[in-house]
Amino acid sequence: MTDTSADDSVQFRDDVTVELIKHSAADSDVLWAARVSTAGEQSLAELTKDPERSKGLINFLMRDRHGSPFEHNSMTFFVSAPIFVFREFMRHRVGWSYNEESGRYRELEPVFYVPSTERKLVQQGRPGKYEFVHGSPEQHQSVVDAMEASYRQSYDAYQKMLAAGVAREVARATLPVGLFSSMYATCNARSLMHFLGLRTQHELAKVPSFPQREIEMVGERMEAEWAKLMPLTHAAFNGNGRIAP
Ligand SMILES: Cc1cc2nc3c(=O)[nH]c(=O)nc-3n(C[C@H](O)[C@H](O)[C@H](O)COP(=O)(O)OP(=O)(O)OC[C@H]3O[C@@H](n4cnc5c(N)ncnc54)[C@H](O)[C@@H]3O)c2cc1C
Repeated sequence: MTDTSADDSVQFRDDVTVELIKHSAADSDVLWAARVSTAGEQSLAELTKDPERSKGLINFLMRDRHGSPFEHNSMTFFVSAPIFVFREFMRHRVGWSYNEESGRYRELEPVFYVPSTERKLVQQGRPGKYEFVHGSPEQHQSVVDAMEASYRQSYDAYQKMLAAGVAREVARATLPVGLFSSMYATCNARSLMHFLGLRTQHELAKVPSFPQREIEMVGERMEAEWAKLMPLTHAAFNGNGRIAP
């Protein structure tokens, strides 16, 4: 959802954008890589000729954590999300390539994150053993009011510095981590599975993780795109407890 204020250009969003820009990714890539030792075998043909055998091989590779056959594919996503999501995202170093918009070479757009009413606001329990529950309508309103006022103030300060001739790379220091940024992120199925194992919560996960909801929103959208491209691999990931091979 995007809410543009009538009185200025500042936008508030409670969602994220994830688009699959390009891909070369199919279950047959896994089969080809796994069967390369069998000279001349055409795994694409095998996939349709004997789907059960293909499914079984992918499941075996996943279960026994033979990970490298899941690397011979590529997916490039365009992601637009708050900077605090990107800080978490870019901790994923292996099998990921990133390019992010520059705050030095262009003026940053006034697009900021505010949580939706569905976003659980209240943390209960002790560190390491807590859960999130819904806040009251009053708590949600106070979050929206505080964030919007703060965002407007910081973006106004940014604009004033730019108008006074200050460089973008200096003026941006006043902008908060709720500002939206955008990036291209390229991965393969193996690195995506590792990311999903850590950044999504799922009833089938053998090792539960407790990610921040906003990076999970990005992960869920990526997973939906990937599942369409590699349905057998996705099913084997779920069937083996969502542990990356
Ligand atoms: C719920 C949650 C809470 C978190 N909280 C914090 C926090 O409070 N503070 C914080 O700093 N981070 C935090 N993180 C980030 C976390 O520590 C990892 O940096 C992040 O999840 C990336 O995981 P990774 O290193 O496995 O991924 P990648 O960097 O993609 O690495 C993939 C795998 O490659 C191997 N590998 C990569 N680099 C090395 C290396 N240098 N040496 C040996 N093996 C390597 C490891 O097997 C690793 O699992 C949190 C993550 C999650 C999911």
